[in-house]
Amino acid sequence: MKAAFLAVGSELLGADRVETNSLRVSERLRRHGVALGRKVVVGDDEDEIAREVRDIVGRFDLLVISGGLGPTADDLTREGVARATGRSLARAENVVDEIRARFASFGRTMPEVNRRQADVIEGATVISNPRGSAPGQMLTVDQTTLVLVPGVPRELEGMLDDVLEPWLAERTGADVLETRVLKVACLAESDVEERIAPAWAELGRENLTILAKPGEITLQYHVRGADAEARDRRLAAGLARLRELIGPATFGEGEATLESVVGELLLARGQTIGTAESCTGGLVATRLTGVAGSSAWYMGSIVAYDYGLKVGGLGVEWATIERVGAVSEEVAREMAEGGRSRLGVDWCVGITGIAGPGGATPEKPVGLVHFAIAGPNGTSHRRAQFPGDRVRVRQQASQLALELVRRRLLRVGEAGT
Ligand code: ATP
Ligand code: MG
Repeated sequence: MKAAFLAVGSELLGADRVETNSLRVSERLRRHGVALGRKVVVGDDEDEIAREVRDIVGRFDLLVISGGLGPTADDLTREGVARATGRSLARAENVVDEIRARFASFGRTMPEVNRRQADVIEGATVISNPRGSAPGQMLTVDQTTLVLVPGVPRELEGMLDDVLEPWLAERTGADVLETRVLKVACLAESDVEERIAPAWAELGRENLTILAKPGEITLQYHVRGADAEARDRRLAAGLARLRELIGPATFGEGEATLESVVGELLLARGQTIGTAESCTGGLVATRLTGVAGSSAWYMGSIVAYDYGLKVGGLGVEWATIERVGAVSEEVAREMAEGGRSRLGVDWCVGITGIAGPGGATPEKPVGLVHFAIAGPNGTSHRRAQFPGDRVRVRQQASQLALELVRRRLLRVGEAGT
């Protein structure tokens, strides 16, 4: 099967918006063993849309078109496709009624312009859109099935689930590619590669993908097959093997984040956490409070950037700052311990470092960060030196802070080993 994708939207040609809908389509296609053979981006321009559609129809089995189904004058996908395929457009009153009903359900009157969204291409089936006002359309021309879906990613996703998945399943047979994701904290990509070396042969090189970002590696394991139970068994066995090879740095699967895992561990122990942050400015607190239900285990934070606030707010000794400087093991420890008692929490993370680009000295370069974790069984310290600019240093520091907490909660060895 040959598949193509056309994104419509002038904003996608500019500097501010990235075209991502094709990735969502590719992901669906991959599940069914179909590769995207062509992807094109055009502006909100009827001639350009018609030209691309004409070029693809007859040569591909599937063409997914996203965007340009809105109610405004620059939404021209319906017109472009009708023109390219020599079909007429006709307003479907029942579709107008559906759109009107959707507006009414929010207590709003449908604006007149929205009637345009009910212009249906001759021979097309309308795809209803419970997530927005723009209905999709599906039609077959010269052996090419065209699927017109909205540009809004969430609405597109819904229609891919409702319409594209079943269409693909019917044509590609029962074989489905299923993927499971394993996440690894604070190890270098090369370290992960080395550790999983035996898995390349055992699981198949083509079935493993490694994706790296600062402080986190994601491993994807893909399994193809018709039997869902057999697929699940192979996926579970593969992930167990990868966990065994990588060790305690694997922190979760799928949508898990370090902060969500830390939250689960605290919840299971009935313990609480807070943070005493300097160079991360509350980033760790932001991540922790981003977890739904965090109020059960997250108490609060003191962001103490200023020396005076480290002393007054956290109880750090002036003498310590004078003796070894604010970016030091001693101050990190005093921040964590002071924060732990002042916030009344079981665990407190102290973070002090040099995010850059300024503030470095020969002994204390940009990227140097001291962490201390104060907990019921004492305070631990870790010094790290991160590469990169301010954003990356702060991101990696928040990542290692959470990983150090996770390691303490699990009582497993040093992070990064
Ligand atoms: P619809 O067909 O849903 O009316 P539209 O093109 O008329 O789509 P827009 O208002 O242009 O709607 O786009 C809605 C939002 O979706 C915008 O934020 C836009 O940037 C985003 N979007 C549209 N197409 C894509 C794409 N291919 N990839 C990523 N984002 C997209
Ligand atoms: Mg658009």
